[in-house]
Amino acid sequence: MATKAVLQQLMANPDRLHSLVDEAKDLALLHGIVFRTHETPNSSEAVTYAPFTLFPSPVPKAVLLQALAVQTHFNTLVDKISRDPDFLEEALAGTTRADDFTARLFDIYRKVQQEGQTQSIVVGLNRSDYMVDQREDGMSSLKQIEINTIAVGGFGVSDHLPVVHRHVLKSVGLLEESKCIQDTNRTPRMSAALAKAWELYGRQKAVILFLVEDVQISKLTHRAVEKELWNRNIPVLRRRFEDVFRKGSLDGDKRLFIDGLEVAVVYYRYGYMPDHYTGQNWDARLLMERSLAVKCPDISTHLAGTKKVQQVLARPGVLEKFFPDQPQVVEQIRATFAGLYTLDMGPEGDQTVAMALANPDEFVLKPQREGGGNNYFGEDIVRVLQEVKSDERRVAYILMDKIRPRTQQNFLLRRGLPLELTSVCYEIGVLGAYVRCGREMVLNEVAGHVLRTKSINDSGIIDRVTVFDNPLII
Ligand code: ADP
Ligand code: MG
Ligand code: MG
Repeated sequence: MATKAVLQQLMANPDRLHSLVDEAKDLALLHGIVFRTHETPNSSEAVTYAPFTLFPSPVPKAVLLQALAVQTHFNTLVDKISRDPDFLEEALAGTTRADDFTARLFDIYRKVQQEGQTQSIVVGLNRSDYMVDQREDGMSSLKQIEINTIAVGGFGVSDHLPVVHRHVLKSVGLLEESKCIQDTNRTPRMSAALAKAWELYGRQKAVILFLVEDVQISKLTHRAVEKELWNRNIPVLRRRFEDVFRKGSLDGDKRLFIDGLEVAVVYYRYGYMPDHYTGQNWDARLLMERSLAVKCPDISTHLAGTKKVQQVLARPGVLEKFFPDQPQVVEQIRATFAGLYTLDMGPEGDQTVAMALANPDEFVLKPQREGGGNNYFGEDIVRVLQEVKSDERRVAYILMDKIRPRTQQNFLLRRGLPLELTSVCYEIGVLGAYVRCGREMVLNEVAGHVLRTKSINDSGIIDRVTVFDNPLII
């Protein structure tokens, strides 16, 4: 890679490096690649550049194309799962006994099912995440890490990062490489699905409600979507669970109102972690789920994104059940699966425990959590499994083969942190957008990709903090 020599030159010339970094940060600010600061997360008086890599990461064209090509099938799969109560019930039965958070979500699901689902329009905005496994035979293999079905991010403020990366490459003389960075159109496409759902709801004065967090550090990235919607004359309202609890109500037709405004679509940008919920927030979630408003996602689609469901999908014969006459689709999806293992009570789960304890460095232990930083690696797997292996608590987890990505050298530009050459690895995220109306998929699209990069230390431990990146397609 030509960038290797460039990195060495920059290391030998700190003045040049710092001026390049300054240029990159300025260009980022010019193009709206901005975050609110940790000191003032609820104010836009002071903002900073969103963290990003100085250089784009080389990504093999074939794996990126493979990830893009399978996405509409993942959209269909998630949607099919969300419409299959027997599957959800069976897949999550043990997990709901072992994990309180999944149980609370499932409780809402059950209540909505019993009452009879009012809304047959669904809008799904998901992101299927992958790492590229470096196999022993030297080949690269695309492996899905997880699929997120609620509050997916990674797009929005970072959309113009290709401009910055092209500039950085040109600036160090890598003109040909700069041509291998593609622009993305992801925010308009993700927003278009919300707009479509709003249109199908069919009330011109109704709003799209963004359900947002209390501490709004990522507000600017939501604004990127809001802007797209307002441009289409679709009114947007930002409210917290607490606001919905205090001021939300349903009319006789179960239409959702807040502050006198009818809500056509609830777009959750929050509500995916246990600590997002107090008692009243659970009540607010239930109110919205029961309502006629279109949900992005609805509770069943939220549950379809759990790690337990991911593990069940990898069992023999399960994908075939969802795509009975489409063996190629099954094959395409399955090719992205890493080894996934049940920790259910019984001989199969016992075998998983033994396998993990014998070779903890080969696996990742995952609870039913989102938002990063919840998984266990290496000796922590042993510690946790020793504690829970003999009873139902173990069913709260799944076990997964550990992916070993190739590492690269790069500079991560993060406010307040020293500038140093770091070993990094990337995760490819493919954005999916769909809208279903009754039984008909009226929109099913790949809405683009995102690349997110983290540092990785000598022991192979990947940092929690992610920075924005771009694929340099090779
Ligand atoms: P979350 O929903 O919290 O994002 P993930 O399954 O994406 O959970 O895991 C969080 C992070 O842990 C990933 O971004 C990746 O860095 C690491 N990780 C997860 N699964 C694996 C795996 N199978 N192999 C290697 N690293 C993994
Ligand atoms: Mg996730
Ligand atoms: Mg993840």
